[in-house]
Amino acid sequence: MRKPLRIIIKLSVAVLLIGGAVYYFGFVDSGIWRNFLSRLFPCSQPITYSIGNFDTRFDISKADFIKDLAEAESVWEKPIGRQLFTYVEQGGALTINLIYDMRQESTVKLQRLGIVIHDDQASYDSLKAKFTTLSATYRQRKAALDSSVASFENKKKKFEQEVARWNAKGGAPPPEYKRLKQEQDDLNAQAEKIYAEETSLNLLVDTLNSMVAVLNRLAKSLNQNIVDFNGTGLVGTGEFEEGEYVLDNKINEINVYQFDDQTSLIRLLAHELGHALRLPHVEDTQAIMYRLNNGTNEKLTPDDLELLKTQCGIK
Ligand SMILES: [Zn+2]
Repeated sequence: MRKPLRIIIKLSVAVLLIGGAVYYFGFVDSGIWRNFLSRLFPCSQPITYSIGNFDTRFDISKADFIKDLAEAESVWEKPIGRQLFTYVEQGGALTINLIYDMRQESTVKLQRLGIVIHDDQASYDSLKAKFTTLSATYRQRKAALDSSVASFENKKKKFEQEVARWNAKGGAPPPEYKRLKQEQDDLNAQAEKIYAEETSLNLLVDTLNSMVAVLNRLAKSLNQNIVDFNGTGLVGTGEFEEGEYVLDNKINEINVYQFDDQTSLIRLLAHELGHALRLPHVEDTQAIMYRLNNGTNEKLTPDDLELLKTQCGIK
């Protein structure tokens, strides 16, 4: 959700070109012209849209995604009773891409652990507290593991030296042999424990990394400082936004990178469709066109509606 500046620039270009376009409108009816018109005058013709990249690693089918797009569409269309968007299977003026990366992967991993995330300060604070507790646990367990590895290596070395000594003498007498055999079993049991703890700690690191990724995404959208992960050896990956609308001479597309649930997806799509209508952001935190997706309403707020009516020239 960004780039309001460029959108405002396009808006003023559209206003300048109104005269010419109205004149041609009655004569030309090609798809290209309709797309051109809908780019200049968002409410005059429905904007056609198609699905571009659809990554199947998201937990949603293409059919359901298209249904959610229709929902997002009607968020804008219902209040003014006008068809603003139309889905076409191919060649739409607007392309919608579903792009799977670290953003969604991390979210899904945390969801599987029962951690629900919303794009708000409360989620950020609670996740950061969980992260702090969990990374302290990690450091403790890692220190304990390091010391049991060191003690294991030490015992193993002594054991091997003793075995080598007896072997040099042609073998150990039965009581010694029995004791060494027992020691070997103990060492193997210890090695297995170490291996299990290592595996479990790796999973913990994976969870911590997912938390870092989500925290950084939230931090960025909430304008917080990127979390300091000193001492954990974890690295955040920068750039986290759940979606964006991109418009230039050749590109007119919506990229979706991340969503937590169906409501947040519909709101995200509605927000980006709003940008496709050349709508900028508003200050109302519950609005669809607020810069953060932290509301739960799937309806326009008065600020959104005002914006839409102004843009479409409805009084
Ligand atoms: Zn935005």
